[in-house]
Amino acid sequence: MSSQREPELGASESPAKPRLLLVSNRLPVKLHQSEDGEWTATRTMGGLATGLAGPHADSGGVWIGWPGFTTESSVIPDAAQARLAEEGFYGLGLTEEEHDQYYLRASNRCIWPLLHGFVERVEFDREDWRVYRAVNQRFADAVCENAQPGDLVFVQDFQLCLVPAMIRAKRPDVRIGFFLHVPFPHTGIFRALPSRAEVLHGLLGADVIGFHTLEYLRCFRSASRRVLGVETTSHRVEYQSRPVELVAQPLGIDPTPWERSSDDSAIGEPLAEIKAAANGRKVLLGVERLDYTKGIIERLTAFRDLLEENPDLREEVVFFQIAVPSRVEVDAYQDLKSNVERLVGEINSRFGRVGLQPLHYQFHGVKPDRLTALYRAADVCVVTPLRDGLNLVAKEFVAARTENKGVLVLSEFTGAAWELTEALHVNPYDTDALKNTYLKALKMPLEEQAARMVPMRARIRRDDIHHWTKAMLGAIEDRAPSTPPRLIEGRVEEECRQMWADSSDRLVALDYDGTLRELQVDPVTATPAPELIELLTEMTAVEGNDVWIVSGRTMEFLREHLASTGVGIIAEHGRLFLPAGEDQPSSLTVSPHPRWKDRIRPILESVQSRVMNSHIEEKDQGLAWHYRGCEPDSAAWQAHELYQHLGEIMADENLEIMRGNKVLEIRPSGVSKAKALHRLIHNRGTIPDLMFVAGDDVTDESMFRAFPEALTVLVGARPSAAQYRVDSPARFRALLSLLHSASQSSRPAANTP
Ligand code: UDP
Repeated sequence: MSSQREPELGASESPAKPRLLLVSNRLPVKLHQSEDGEWTATRTMGGLATGLAGPHADSGGVWIGWPGFTTESSVIPDAAQARLAEEGFYGLGLTEEEHDQYYLRASNRCIWPLLHGFVERVEFDREDWRVYRAVNQRFADAVCENAQPGDLVFVQDFQLCLVPAMIRAKRPDVRIGFFLHVPFPHTGIFRALPSRAEVLHGLLGADVIGFHTLEYLRCFRSASRRVLGVETTSHRVEYQSRPVELVAQPLGIDPTPWERSSDDSAIGEPLAEIKAAANGRKVLLGVERLDYTKGIIERLTAFRDLLEENPDLREEVVFFQIAVPSRVEVDAYQDLKSNVERLVGEINSRFGRVGLQPLHYQFHGVKPDRLTALYRAADVCVVTPLRDGLNLVAKEFVAARTENKGVLVLSEFTGAAWELTEALHVNPYDTDALKNTYLKALKMPLEEQAARMVPMRARIRRDDIHHWTKAMLGAIEDRAPSTPPRLIEGRVEEECRQMWADSSDRLVALDYDGTLRELQVDPVTATPAPELIELLTEMTAVEGNDVWIVSGRTMEFLREHLASTGVGIIAEHGRLFLPAGEDQPSSLTVSPHPRWKDRIRPILESVQSRVMNSHIEEKDQGLAWHYRGCEPDSAAWQAHELYQHLGEIMADENLEIMRGNKVLEIRPSGVSKAKALHRLIHNRGTIPDLMFVAGDDVTDESMFRAFPEALTVLVGARPSAAQYRVDSPARFRALLSLLHSASQSSRPAANTP
């Protein structure tokens, strides 16, 4: 097939480099209006903004989002908009009411708690939801107005769940990615949302949906199956005849600012101040927004119990807890604040003395320099959310530990736990376990601290924010714009005819229903017309034509109606196999898919990179991941995750997984249309110089995808992996006839009279 030519479609169609349109609730910029009316813009460089700034600027794209101030009529003043445009931004205006209903209420009081699994905190209000939908539509409209064909659109987070489908409805000519920065909960929880189907339909408008972890990806996939009844495979949802790719790619950080030397006075001065306050005691540190998902009450309860049971520690440890004010207008957050303050008061009054407080609690944010100093001063960083999509603090702490000392206590319910396997993992609801983990962390020898910190730091430097950006944008860019394939007519038809004429060894794989024959309500009546029988008979008589029907139908039906034409038959989606002229169908024993290892290996490699001392074994007929001799708890946990994840791939791709003693092994099994074709080529022993594949439905997409070098034709008008399309079976039969006439005119057919 390598010798096969692509029909030339005109050099003028080579696309320019795609532009990147970014969409987020907030723009990464602060706008300020001076007294004389001038607008100034200051960029805020959070992790995401740092990663996306370069590609955004390089592509000459636009970043669409709310600039951070409400306006009376949802319109951004022209002067402010012009200032934003200079930075490549487009400001989307929100009124006070819209901001209240779309952001504070529908997003923060409904979707946020739901996606974090706090069903009892979900406040769903139809009027708020109407405004959420209307604001999402305005974001989508802004994208559509700014988009050019072929652009990449990358939408961020839960405030904008409906935007992907809204963009697709108007602009199917752009590629759309979405990243969810929070968790995706188990189906049972997600189904509690009254607008659950609307959210899924909205997200599935994207070509690629990214999650921090495989667990969230799996939950999303199963919610799609359960709520919408769609077909899914391991990393894909088949949605409206279009594959939506699911990607697990944890957000990285930019480690450099956190690695700055303590000799730098901006770090050194606050560090000295914090050390003075610690007064020789070991430092435990907690840093987060004051949010009920963060587990602050449980964390401080465990600290109280630690001091209660270990009087000797009361003068030897100090806890610095930074609680950044967040969503202060929401009642639930005010209640939380009071409860935390009560607990702080109790701990200090019970275990402190004049001049020596065991708990320093601050209800305000700190600047990055001071935060770096805090990370560096801490002996133990306690990151114990009850649920957290990722958690950046954990990563920043590790990045700041340039001397490879210090211990990270990390909740197993954070996305970061998936990557930071050497941290001390803990169930934050279990305050006894938490207390014991504090003790273990405080007593951990320096060598063990370093042994855990070194691989974590290396991973954070390797999988940084730029790595994430590249992976996500690459995944979106890899997707062809989801427009239907090019119609075969005029010059394209002539070029296809020429390709056919120029080849002398053709493998022709044709689906039956909907491709060669019109679909019927009762499939029994969909028998081939005499003209089709004649055409196939003529085709099989030409030397060099190897014609196969590849169908989901039974062998009995296909054989009865088509065997007389001399075609080979692959029935039941690849399960049964009957070469032309043979009597006895064989059940297809599957030879390994030539590329299955390339798909599985990266999954194993990513687990291997998270579990020290584990390794991958490459076998002739399998791939194995061995984790003997690894840190048992985290390795077992990763093995369980991997088993679950691979288990689903096995079901989809007919591979099987064997769970051995400290080893997981993957081997091929099963059948599919695409695999049957691989088998055909394998049996032939030679590669045809033209492979022609045609089909109409989703099961045929696997063939189109598996043979990108083939001349692939979709019968229909939907987006597809096929190169070309025709409108109907009648049109397809006419095409086949035309191609066939090309083989007749190019050389005499050996087998025809
Ligand atoms: N942070 C900050 N000032 C503070 C405390 C924290 O800027 O006083 C930053 C911190 O560096 C981190 C982010 O806030 O980048 C918190 O992110 P995380 O993922 O841990 O939690 P989120 O707030 O997104 O739920």
